[in-house]
Amino acid sequence: MADTSSPVSPVYVIGAGPGGLAVAAALGARGVRAVVLEKSDAVAASWRRHYDRLHLHTTRRLSSLPGLRIPRRFGRWVSRDDLVRYLEKYAEVHELEIVTGVEVERVERGPEGEGWVLYATGGRRLTTSAVVVATGYNHTPYVPDWAGAETYTGELLHASRYRDPAPYAGRDVLVVGAGNTGAEIAADLAEGEAARVRLAVRTPPHILRRSTAGWPAQATGILVRRLPVRLVDRAASVTERLSVPDLSAYGLPRPAGGLYSRVREGAIPVQDAGLIDAVRAGRVEPVAAVDSFDGAKVLLADGTRVSPEVVIAATGYRRGLEGLVGHLGVLDSRGRPRGRGVSGLYFTGFTNPISGMLRELRLDATRIAKSLTP
Ligand SMILES: Cc1cc2nc3c(=O)[nH]c(=O)nc-3n(C[C@H](O)[C@H](O)[C@H](O)COP(=O)(O)OP(=O)(O)OC[C@H]3O[C@@H](n4cnc5c(N)ncnc54)[C@H](O)[C@@H]3O)c2cc1C
Repeated sequence: MADTSSPVSPVYVIGAGPGGLAVAAALGARGVRAVVLEKSDAVAASWRRHYDRLHLHTTRRLSSLPGLRIPRRFGRWVSRDDLVRYLEKYAEVHELEIVTGVEVERVERGPEGEGWVLYATGGRRLTTSAVVVATGYNHTPYVPDWAGAETYTGELLHASRYRDPAPYAGRDVLVVGAGNTGAEIAADLAEGEAARVRLAVRTPPHILRRSTAGWPAQATGILVRRLPVRLVDRAASVTERLSVPDLSAYGLPRPAGGLYSRVREGAIPVQDAGLIDAVRAGRVEPVAAVDSFDGAKVLLADGTRVSPEVVIAATGYRRGLEGLVGHLGVLDSRGRPRGRGVSGLYFTGFTNPISGMLRELRLDATRIAKSLTP
């Protein structure tokens, strides 16, 4: 195995998404050499794979990474393609050292507990005093282990493989999961001439307007995030009632738990990107959660049986950190890093903040760079 480390090892940053790029730039600004290792063939790999109609639901101004603003011409709600353009430019402007096509498979402590050793594809063995793991919160698509799923005669895919509604025109589609992704894909399918769109909902989501009278929901999230949970829950309930119509008659009741209480359990509210109108127009039909599959049928939690031709599982992701760092005792029972890491091993991007993840990645990058410089 080749040891490709130089006499003075750089900080290795694993992942060239916004989180990894931001840390590398913040380190560079402090005179620390950082090398970003990216398993795919380009920066912003996750963003290149997202569905076509995706726009940030956080504002341009509050989504910039350290040291380069997102250009004003990209508009208030930046499109997927423009975000990729921005991230490419970001790497170029900061002259980041990025090695693509390298997947880090395992991080080990160095000899006698000093520093770290990275084992990567191609037999690479890299030694360093500091590593930043930025492999993404949405790392591994997750589909529940539904009974009978293997007997399903329709098409079953994870939402990460959905790009645009064209392949589903004229077809009966069941989208499973009413998070931001499921809600937006359902609305996209309805606008894209799918014959029928049902949205399977386990727990009714909190729904927010992306902005109200020009004031973005994200800005409220930033302002209230340190206030008492019950207070925010009460205020959010009033805002929701004023700005979002009651969709109970359409099968989507108002959620039971408070908005911020749910955020603390990991459920980010849905920012409306067409779902409300589609539900009211009957173009998206909320139905009960998926229980199991049986041949052409899908059995729902309320006992109903439906026969969609396509099931799109917008059922989330897993962090996928076990193989990389699980043996180091740094993960909690849900596979998330405990705190910000241990000496010389940092994590960024593994929370799900109400204030916007890109903003949090910016703050984290500066924090990590500070703690890595004297
Ligand atoms: C559909 C969607 C919409 C979102 N919209 C917003 C929004 O509007 N505003 C907002 O603030 N946030 C948003 N987010 C959340 C967050 O900002 C993004 O997920 C963002 O891409 C996270 O950046 P990241 O660098 O942490 O992870 P990623 O962008 O996922 O990047 C991780 C990188 O690591 C690489 N990698 C993974 N494992 C390895 C390995 N072992 N070795 C080497 N490379 C590896 C991957 O190929 C990838 O390039 C959204 C997320 C999703 C899924």
